[in-house]
Amino acid sequence: MVRKYPLFLILFVLSAIAVHAQDAGEPPVFEEFCLKGEFDLGWRLQGTKPEAGEFYPTEWCVISSKDSPNVRFSGKGRSNPDMESTFTVVYLPPNMVRIVNEGPQPDLEFREAIVGAEAIAVRRLDPKRIAEEIEANPGWVISKSGNGMIEVRFPGSRFVSTVSIVDSSAISFYTDVDLPLRGRVRAVWEWKTEGEEYGARVTMTVDGMVVYRAKSTRRVLSAESASKAFEPAADEPEAVSIPGKAWPARVAMNLKTIEKGVHIVRNVRTGFHHFVVETNEGLVVADAPAGWVELHQLPPSDLVPGLGISGLSERFIDFLGGHFPGKRIRSVILTHAHDDHSGGARAFAAAGAKIYAPKGSSGFLQTALNRKEMPADRLSASGRKAEVTPVEGRFTMTDAARPVEAVSLGPNPHVDSMLGVFLPKQKIFFVSDIHVPGSDAPAPEANRAVSECFFASWAVENLPVGTRIFNSHSSQVTTVELMKKWTESERCSEQRAVSSER
Ligand SMILES: [Zn+2]
Repeated sequence: MVRKYPLFLILFVLSAIAVHAQDAGEPPVFEEFCLKGEFDLGWRLQGTKPEAGEFYPTEWCVISSKDSPNVRFSGKGRSNPDMESTFTVVYLPPNMVRIVNEGPQPDLEFREAIVGAEAIAVRRLDPKRIAEEIEANPGWVISKSGNGMIEVRFPGSRFVSTVSIVDSSAISFYTDVDLPLRGRVRAVWEWKTEGEEYGARVTMTVDGMVVYRAKSTRRVLSAESASKAFEPAADEPEAVSIPGKAWPARVAMNLKTIEKGVHIVRNVRTGFHHFVVETNEGLVVADAPAGWVELHQLPPSDLVPGLGISGLSERFIDFLGGHFPGKRIRSVILTHAHDDHSGGARAFAAAGAKIYAPKGSSGFLQTALNRKEMPADRLSASGRKAEVTPVEGRFTMTDAARPVEAVSLGPNPHVDSMLGVFLPKQKIFFVSDIHVPGSDAPAPEANRAVSECFFASWAVENLPVGTRIFNSHSSQVTTVELMKKWTESERCSEQRAVSSER
């Protein structure tokens, strides 16, 4: 009988019942759980060097309730050493999410974005929510031991995790995780109470190393501050509405041709753009994306779920196969050793491509890409190894129509060693994380000035006049002429003064 009714009508009736049920009972009680501490970007391979031990301060807060799917997450800290960011995301499942901007900037509302699973993963930052979830879903439990250890498989996870619960809160969480450039390793979260006054000590250990340490605090919000957390303030400008399909955490590849034989593949992962050049010997590609694991989520989930370490690059290669039938991939240029840019290189090795990387990190990448603990992928099925060729200075891949140069940018604020890709005949340059500009911005952004002023000076010195610069994280195209204006800007002059004092 139900089948006679369209799905939207059923959903409407169900949601009406849900709203009614909530109206009839008590309003949900929201709690704020905060972590203030430091995170090892070097371990996450987002530091300036590939090694572990580069800790940077972070602050994470999650507001959630036992009785509501709504979650608010705010984070403060660095995702890279050269860039600090502060952001707040309000999840209103099933299909709304809002980025909260402070001050006069309007909020961004993504409508018809499917965010239920992401909201649940964010809630798990709070150990109380983990305990509640397990209690509410006895079907997830595999076994319970006498000493309070519970073996559980969360939906969508490949791994069985072990959780210990005391007084309705998780105190430890053990799981395996598959990490780019590391393979399968053990991750452990521990929440240790140190007495009321100081709150709890929280640590995350991966593969035996502490990668996150923080103090936690918890408070119950009043009904008024809870509603403020989820509703835009009355005096704020109206939010900008964005179609839900633009929300990150998805693969939506599309090919944009810049000119004959030169392309950008956009949204290999939302906001990640890749460079593709056709030569007589095959395609030259810049950067090999990996499945990305967000470590604050429990269990860690890929931003592109289900694709694993090599899966995202394997999909990218299949996409190229569809667009360029019969063309092999000649080489992949890894711009730098950060896991999101080089962690998928095994897929390119399996496709027979030669791998180039900056000399400073090529040894590390050679080892990291061939670790024994890597989960099964196309490369393991082929029985081959990934071979990484170091590039120092400039290296040219010859071609009659489109020679391609891998160009070293040297040590910079983003990472110790880095390559860009230059087409001397077309005067096109592709650069990754060091430069994500506004199109006609007169000067770099304040929070990125260190990197952007570095790049502007480098571009003026190393690229010919008339070169168009494309980058890995925006659709903007800039010119060397604009970079020259930037170097002369007040912000970059201040930046030069600061760096010469060091
Ligand atoms: Zn990077």
